[in-house]
Amino acid sequence: MNVIVDLCVVPIGVGVSVSEYVAACERILDEAGLRHQMHAYGTNIEGEWDQVFTAVKRCHEVVHQMGAPRISTSLKVGTRCDRAQTMQDKIDSVNSKLKGEPPPSRHPDYEQGAAQGKELMSEDCIFCKIVTGEIPSDQLYQDELVTAFRDISPQAPVHLLIVPNRHFNDFGQMGDEQAAIMGRIAEVAGLLAVEEGVAPDGWRFVTNIGENGGQEVLHTHFHLLGGRPLGPLLAR
Ligand code: AMP
Repeated sequence: MNVIVDLCVVPIGVGVSVSEYVAACERILDEAGLRHQMHAYGTNIEGEWDQVFTAVKRCHEVVHQMGAPRISTSLKVGTRCDRAQTMQDKIDSVNSKLKGEPPPSRHPDYEQGAAQGKELMSEDCIFCKIVTGEIPSDQLYQDELVTAFRDISPQAPVHLLIVPNRHFNDFGQMGDEQAAIMGRIAEVAGLLAVEEGVAPDGWRFVTNIGENGGQEVLHTHFHLLGGRPLGPLLAR
């Protein structure tokens, strides 16, 4: 389960300046690979529940080791299971209202898709619900960034789908900021290809975008196909 927390670690008995202790905590969050954003009265952190709370524990351990005899931490904790939502999504949502613009995730294709009655909003997105477990799937892998599960209608002996946990309508909407997600997708694809036994003979990894691409589910996903010769890339 993913969580967003607001963490404020206050060492007691160390004088009026706490910046070196805060810096130590920020380093811990970096090392844990957690996304975090410092602000004047604490730090917002997001990630998988156990990873976040392991890092919070580590902050206490290190700040004590640095000489603080007491620590008083305040923590706000938020989870949601209706859809995936990041800290940035929350900020973007408010900013777009301030600017009077539609939410930034709404690519021009979004309106087009909406007109076609397709599943677009992350609230209604079947793959968002698979990520949160609201809809069952034959899941093979999940971490804080990506989820992999078997395609319900396999087109080859091995047909898996790998999706980012966060909602993007399609691959074309992803950019530099999603480098960590894309890197993880590549890593998980390679691992699953080995696990599923298709690595030695080769496999195919494709993503469909939009109507001409034949995309049916508007949540970025990659098909991992293998287990037989797959023929030419495009049907003739
Ligand atoms: P695309 O045409 O690229 O959008 O691919 C969507 C894929 O999602 C298809 O191969 C479907 O068979 C698959 N799919 C749809 N619903 C589910 C589901 N509930 N569980 C697993 N795969 C699904």
